[in-house]
Amino acid sequence: MTYEHSLTFAQKLDQEDPLRHFRDRFHIPARDNKPLTYLCGNSLGLQPKSVRAALDQELLTWQNLGVEGWFEQTESAEQPWLGYHNTCKQALGQIIGAEPSEVCPMNALTVNLHLLLASFYRPTEKKYKILTIKGDFPSDQYALETHIKHHGLKPADTLVEIAPHADDSLIHTTDIQKAIAEQADSLALIWMSGLNYYTGQVYNMAAIAETAQQHCIPVGFDLAHAIGNVPLRLHDWGVDFATWCSYKYLNGGPGAVSGVFVHQKHHEQNLPRLAGWWGYREDRRFDMTPGFLPAPGADGWQVSTPNILALAAHRAAIAITAEAGIVALRRKSEQLTGYLEYILTPFDEIQILTPDDPNQRGCQLSLLVRKNGRTLFEFLTKQGIIGDWREPDCIRLAPVPLYNTFEDVYRVGETLEQFYRTTR
Ligand SMILES: *Cc1c(COP(=O)(O)O)cnc(C)c1O
Repeated sequence: MTYEHSLTFAQKLDQEDPLRHFRDRFHIPARDNKPLTYLCGNSLGLQPKSVRAALDQELLTWQNLGVEGWFEQTESAEQPWLGYHNTCKQALGQIIGAEPSEVCPMNALTVNLHLLLASFYRPTEKKYKILTIKGDFPSDQYALETHIKHHGLKPADTLVEIAPHADDSLIHTTDIQKAIAEQADSLALIWMSGLNYYTGQVYNMAAIAETAQQHCIPVGFDLAHAIGNVPLRLHDWGVDFATWCSYKYLNGGPGAVSGVFVHQKHHEQNLPRLAGWWGYREDRRFDMTPGFLPAPGADGWQVSTPNILALAAHRAAIAITAEAGIVALRRKSEQLTGYLEYILTPFDEIQILTPDDPNQRGCQLSLLVRKNGRTLFEFLTKQGIIGDWREPDCIRLAPVPLYNTFEDVYRVGETLEQFYRTTR
């Protein structure tokens, strides 16, 4: 697509955008009665208008039925609370490319990572190492260290960290594949992000999963920034397990419920796990007998009573993503982010860290601004452009296809010009 830096051009693209009506499904934050240019969906997605009614519904059930809400439903509700999580699976499966039995919404991302590591990281004397990406999200690093220490091992001897390539500061798939092949005899697990939260780089999950399978090493992905952002085919790729958060591109609300993916190939294996009664076979759960019998599929990783209010918001939010469809969202996303790249390119002061190859990125562009970065960020915020700041010199901007417009992106260029006109 050839772009133009003009308001008319941006507005024309918005008029032609088949997804333009989805913006009306969201509350767009405003300041002084003017909608903000919200480019921070990578951190907290906006509130779908349908969430309030979904919460009200379950509040009503609680109000009218009390504990019976687990087994009965008020007239307007679709589902009693028992089994409520099942109503999220169709949409989740569609979004990540999984069978409904392979997914279950539950807990928060890092909690789920601990649960999954308990099952999938089972080091032996010979095979005990974990391959990961250097500088990956801190919470993931802490979780890995925890499990390594629990097994009496030392993180320094155990972690194989793939570093960015000297040429372009990006992670190369071939470097990961080479490390897997070279260290296959000592690797017990591969755990990494699917999309780097800092640089915005998308890794070739399909290729990495394929190499992992060739060497019989379980592979899991952190999909915090990938879910709802880029197309995923976890089942077909043969990924062993995954978890994500739903408050970023899935718009589930602050601290919204996460979920897990466990590939079908593990469903009959009775893997060890940190068990709790909610992961027990549903038909026998209330027998309250000793001895854990896992529920089939990803459900068997549940631990505690689900938070129904959180699930209600989650369900309402993912219904919108599923309705728009990942293919259509991705098509718009490539254009929208491509437009942002086009708008940013003339500014010599700004270096884009994110790969220029659309296959290696999602919505987000990470901007390295070595000079006056913080001042620029504050200026953008003051002018109503909401991104986020990463010390010491990085601004992340994420135009989200569900609710952002080409005009939003155009405004970024206009505001940057304003800034540099006065500071150059
Ligand atoms: C956002 C994010 C998290 C957040 O974890 P929580 O447990 O939800 O707080 C974890 N990992 C990555 C890569 C993230 O981007």
